[in-house]
Amino acid sequence: MKTKISILTGAGVSAESGLGTYRDNGGLWDQYDPMEVASIDGWRKNPGKVLDFYNMQREKLRAVSPNAAHRAIAALEERADVQVITQNVDNLHERAGSTRVLHLHGETTKVRPDQGLYDINFSEDEVFDIGYEAVRLGDMAPNGNQLRPHIVFFGEAVPKMERAIEQVQQADIVLIVGSSLQVYPAAGLYRYARNTARIFLIDPAEVPVRDPRITHIREKATRGMEIFTEEIFKL
Ligand code: NAD
Repeated sequence: MKTKISILTGAGVSAESGLGTYRDNGGLWDQYDPMEVASIDGWRKNPGKVLDFYNMQREKLRAVSPNAAHRAIAALEERADVQVITQNVDNLHERAGSTRVLHLHGETTKVRPDQGLYDINFSEDEVFDIGYEAVRLGDMAPNGNQLRPHIVFFGEAVPKMERAIEQVQQADIVLIVGSSLQVYPAAGLYRYARNTARIFLIDPAEVPVRDPRITHIREKATRGMEIFTEEIFKL
């Protein structure tokens, strides 16, 4: 049977593609107030501003490409049973060839109808891909509601958490790439790993984790994935 690997990725895996992290110095949250452009309250107060912000994110995404770390993660599917669980809202894992990608925080290239207060109860059938197109106020879904970004805004629940937990519980190896392990609930996912699972973290920064099961490879994602595939996960 193939080894089961859950790969949890954060903003760091896309940094070498030119998509900045949000929280690091000079990151997006130094320029924008996340509560205005990426929260449910911000959306209710000024949806046009939120749409503009995500229109800009789509333009940025169009201009970048997957890097060697995304490609190495996709290539692991030839040797292992791989599930990617990403906090990222970009599509670089898919563009690199990964076939099983669970987006915890939504996807920049997708939209769905705004449902009012209980927006968590949307159906997956209503979500659709607009590629890199812009969305404006007045752009309606087939049901007549305003289109909104298919993004888990600050202040909203993370609907795919249970599926992600099940995947991590089954893994032989949990590999975390480019995450500060500070954005909950995603940051706590690795704790669901079995006691026998091996856990690796690839991140150049000193990440404050005290779990003795974690081996920290203190490198950028591209170099870290080389070390993982060539020195650790050899078949
Ligand atoms: P995060 O928790 O995702 O942390 C980013 C981590 O990446 C940091 O620990 C940093 O040391 C590390 N890092 C920086 N350069 C790296 C590299 N070259 N290789 C490997 N690791 C590297 O924090 P955040 O940036 O505050 O993001 C918060 C949320 O916003 C997360 O859900 C994140 O996924 C999302 N986000 C998504 C994107 C995207 O879709 N590309 C970009 C930025 C942020």
